[in-house]
Amino acid sequence: MEIRVENLRKTFHAEGRAVAALDGIDLHVPDGTVTTLLGPSGCGKTTLLRCIAGLETPDSGTIRIGDTVVWQGDGDRTRSVTPDKRGVGMVFQTYAIWPHMTVFENVAYPLQSQGTPRAETAERVSRALEFVQLGGYENRPATALSGGQQQRVSLARAIVAEPRVILFDEPLSNLDAKLREETRAELRELLTRLGITSLYVTHDRFEAMALSDDVVVMQSGSIVQRGSPEEVYFRASTHFVMDFMGKANFLPGTVVDPEHPSGFMLVDTAVGPLLCERRPGAHVGLAGQVAARMEFLSIVGDLGDDGALPPNHVAATVTSEMFLGEYREVQLRAGDTKLVLRTSATDAIEPGRRVELLLDPAGCRFLTE
Ligand code: ATP
Repeated sequence: MEIRVENLRKTFHAEGRAVAALDGIDLHVPDGTVTTLLGPSGCGKTTLLRCIAGLETPDSGTIRIGDTVVWQGDGDRTRSVTPDKRGVGMVFQTYAIWPHMTVFENVAYPLQSQGTPRAETAERVSRALEFVQLGGYENRPATALSGGQQQRVSLARAIVAEPRVILFDEPLSNLDAKLREETRAELRELLTRLGITSLYVTHDRFEAMALSDDVVVMQSGSIVQRGSPEEVYFRASTHFVMDFMGKANFLPGTVVDPEHPSGFMLVDTAVGPLLCERRPGAHVGLAGQVAARMEFLSIVGDLGDDGALPPNHVAATVTSEMFLGEYREVQLRAGDTKLVLRTSATDAIEPGRRVELLLDPAGCRFLTE
């Protein structure tokens, strides 16, 4: 079932200061998809999730789940469906697993509190546990499980009540790095099989890209970009999104030919002329910055002395390199400009080396914000 949020606002007042946690949010989560709210601490993602669940009261706006308006407010007139009637399942960071109960009792809890008959409860709990691959763990004390297994118990508890949508609030952030990566892959598979509309809050870009059909990037109470993981990573629309989604080079520049015959756009920068993706509405003299992810930079070879280099070829000096297992990260300097790129893990490169770089025009974006 889809979720629709329109013009949602929420301001908190603390210590004499007003903080617009949600500054007029419009959000559509299509039926059966996984959408992630991604952004730095304090950007409003948890507040938005809690408003949808009914755990927080917005100031104004509308929230719909399927055809039901679960909250609508404008000044003094509000309409609200209580949290337990919204058909929302939740999975929290802290799992909210009861330590004194067995796995079965934990998962059965929502059904028992609805007065579901005993035989039906047993059947549904057993199905939910099979689904999260914990069949046979019914009688284990919940505390005798690993962090990843406890997280699966909390997912089983969220789905046992057959909710219309599931909301996830940073469910993996208490796991250590390795377990987190494993659980991420498992969760992706579970969510795909489950097919329930899911809204997932995280500040971890890898988690967002790995799990979602759509990533919604938030900044200071607003949505700044929304798209598939590939779109927000490769086609960021602002400096903030480009920087938040992964490492990139930013080169201030001015447009000199918006319709260069190469099919790209020519921009003058401190490291020389750069061809980059054309931008509708760009004009000569438009100021901005060329942004290029580090995987679009490559070392062509050692620097020769054949004079001026063509566009996108840049003379640079290696300043340092780091071996990071799967790849090496190389820091360089071209005049006063710092650059970063990725090379193969097996290609060691010594600091001080003078090299010619190529910035792939297809990976250069011109940003004005
Ligand atoms: P995090 O990743 O740290 O949880 P977040 O993006 O989920 O951050 P929110 O928790 O939604 O952000 O908070 C948004 C803003 O609202 C922050 O500036 C926060 O300090 C403020 N805020 C949240 N809850 C309250 C509250 N109960 N009282 C006062 N201010 C609040």
